[in-house]
Amino acid sequence: MDKQGKSVIVVGGGASGLMAAIQAARCGARVTVLERENKPGRKLLRTGNGRCNLTTTGSTAGVYHGEERSFAAKVLENWTVAETLAFFESIGVHTTSRGGWIYPYSDQAESVLQDLLMTAEECGVRIKTREEVRRVRKVMGRFQVETATWTYEADAVILACGTRAGIAGQEDAEEPAGIAARMGHTVIRQLPALVPLNVEDAGRLGWAGVRVNGSVRIISGRELIEEESGQLQLTEYGISGIPVFIVSSEAVRLLDSHAPVHAELDFFPDGTERELAELLHERHANHLLRPLKKLLVGLFPEKLIPALTAGSPDLISLAERAKHFRVRVTGHQGAKAAQVMSGGVSTDEVDPATCMSRLVENLYLTGEMLDIDGACGGWNLQFAWSTGALAGRSAGRGEDK
Ligand SMILES: Cc1cc2nc3c(=O)[nH]c(=O)nc-3n(C[C@H](O)[C@H](O)[C@H](O)COP(=O)(O)OP(=O)(O)OC[C@H]3O[C@@H](n4cnc5c(N)ncnc54)[C@H](O)[C@@H]3O)c2cc1C
Repeated sequence: MDKQGKSVIVVGGGASGLMAAIQAARCGARVTVLERENKPGRKLLRTGNGRCNLTTTGSTAGVYHGEERSFAAKVLENWTVAETLAFFESIGVHTTSRGGWIYPYSDQAESVLQDLLMTAEECGVRIKTREEVRRVRKVMGRFQVETATWTYEADAVILACGTRAGIAGQEDAEEPAGIAARMGHTVIRQLPALVPLNVEDAGRLGWAGVRVNGSVRIISGRELIEEESGQLQLTEYGISGIPVFIVSSEAVRLLDSHAPVHAELDFFPDGTERELAELLHERHANHLLRPLKKLLVGLFPEKLIPALTAGSPDLISLAERAKHFRVRVTGHQGAKAAQVMSGGVSTDEVDPATCMSRLVENLYLTGEMLDIDGACGGWNLQFAWSTGALAGRSAGRGEDK
């Protein structure tokens, strides 16, 4: 490998940063990753509950949010899911699909990280940990990357710093996108997404611990904003689970603009309200002596029954309540409980073919710090791999300096 190649600094040794570093090094660049933690890839280890849902083969339609959603589609055309799968197979990660959601065959996020780190080492990438970048400047055509103790110089810089999502103890910290803002980039307000939601009087409902199949609709005023179905998790503070995560981005944005937000939960997704009412009447006819609460045992989880039967509704109202259980959304569990942040560096200012900044030549931006957030199911990591690969390939090419 030509070790006289372009010098590239990657800020952040997470998903997109490691991908970018490998691709840049494979193009012959001298690559250094600066990572503020004591180990690279810490967030990656927590993905998919430790199993790492690393990509997906589903349709991209409607899965990405951001001011310019087409940016994500363009990026995924330029570095596809198929290329991602081939890349991982080539570095040692054999994969398996669960309904289109792709996991390492080992079922361990740890093995994805290990294969990335081994590959990075084999390509000659240097990884420096406990190096938090504070500022990046461009002086006379070269970059100066400042940490607490050192100023590194490079021909190209890839900002792959992610967000505060999913990290405890960062409540008052600045979002990493601030580094890009100080270089002139516009940052769209960053808010938690894929996050559990708080609902009014959740504790009083007594439903904490319930997991139930259903659907959740986000409603503002009279408008249905988004709907998703799957396993709902009911908690002491409100609602969680994959369908709630998926609708949370819109709910949080509405809350942030002080709009009224309600969640309507459907606890009988397999039938209509009328069918549920008929079922309840049939059960009542078969068990005339059973009080209302006992009539529901075997139909709904026991801890959900008090919430459904509060105020002793008749069977018609009960069916209505179980299909349209309405709660006011009062907030969310914050960045530390979120999987990603919405908002970030405006994608108007980034070229989707290379992920190079349109404002600062040879500066690249990747992954979650961009104004794109995806649904659950591997979309966020796929966006990280694609942007990382494009940035790394582009940054790694070029004349020797
Ligand atoms: C609990 C959890 C589960 C998730 N599960 C999935 C899943 O299964 N599938 C999926 O697709 N997505 C999942 N995600 C989202 C996914 O992890 C992120 O979207 C993805 O990691 C983003 O990649 P990134 O490279 O942009 O940022 P990151 O992977 O977060 O990497 C950024 C790196 O930059 C470092 N850094 C930040 N600032 C600085 C600085 N100033 N100087 C030096 N280093 C810095 C950070 O320490 C970090 O290592 C999950 C997220 C969480 C929190």
